[in-house]
Amino acid sequence: MPGGFGGASDQRPCPCGGAVYRSCCGPLHRGDQCAETAEQLMRSRYSAFARGEIDYLLATHPEPDVPAQQRRCSLERSCRQTRWLGLTVLGVSAGGPRDLEGTVQFEARYRGGVLKETSLFRRRDGAEDGPWFYVGALHLEG
Ligand SMILES: [Zn+2]
Repeated sequence: MPGGFGGASDQRPCPCGGAVYRSCCGPLHRGDQCAETAEQLMRSRYSAFARGEIDYLLATHPEPDVPAQQRRCSLERSCRQTRWLGLTVLGVSAGGPRDLEGTVQFEARYRGGVLKETSLFRRRDGAEDGPWFYVGALHLEG
C-alpha cells in the first residue's frame, strides 16, 4: 500500500469509534500508553482486530496453555477473514482506574453478522498499577 509509515491511516477515525486513531488507540498499540480502564483496553483490542495489530492482541490476552505460534496463526487468520464494521459498548461494570477487575459488554459488527460479548478484564498480578489484560468471554452470542 502506498503512503508509507502509516501516517495517513493514523489521521483516520479510530476503528473503535473514538477520535482519530493517532490519539485514540494508536498510543496503546505503539506501547506509548497503557489502558487506564477495562473499557479502554477493550476498545483498543477491538481496534487491534480491525487493524491486524497481532502483537498487541497477543500481549493483552495471556494464554499460557496455547503455543505462541498457534495463537499468532489463528489471530492472523481471524484478522484476514473478518471485516470489522463498528463497535458499541453496551455496559461497563467496575474496570476503573482503582479497580482490579471489570467487565465490558459490547456489540461488534462485522460483515455478515454481529458479535455480542461480555468480556472479563483483570489487572496483571492483581496490582493496582498493573496493566489491564483480557481474561476471556463470560458470555458470547453471535
Ligand atoms: Zn480507539
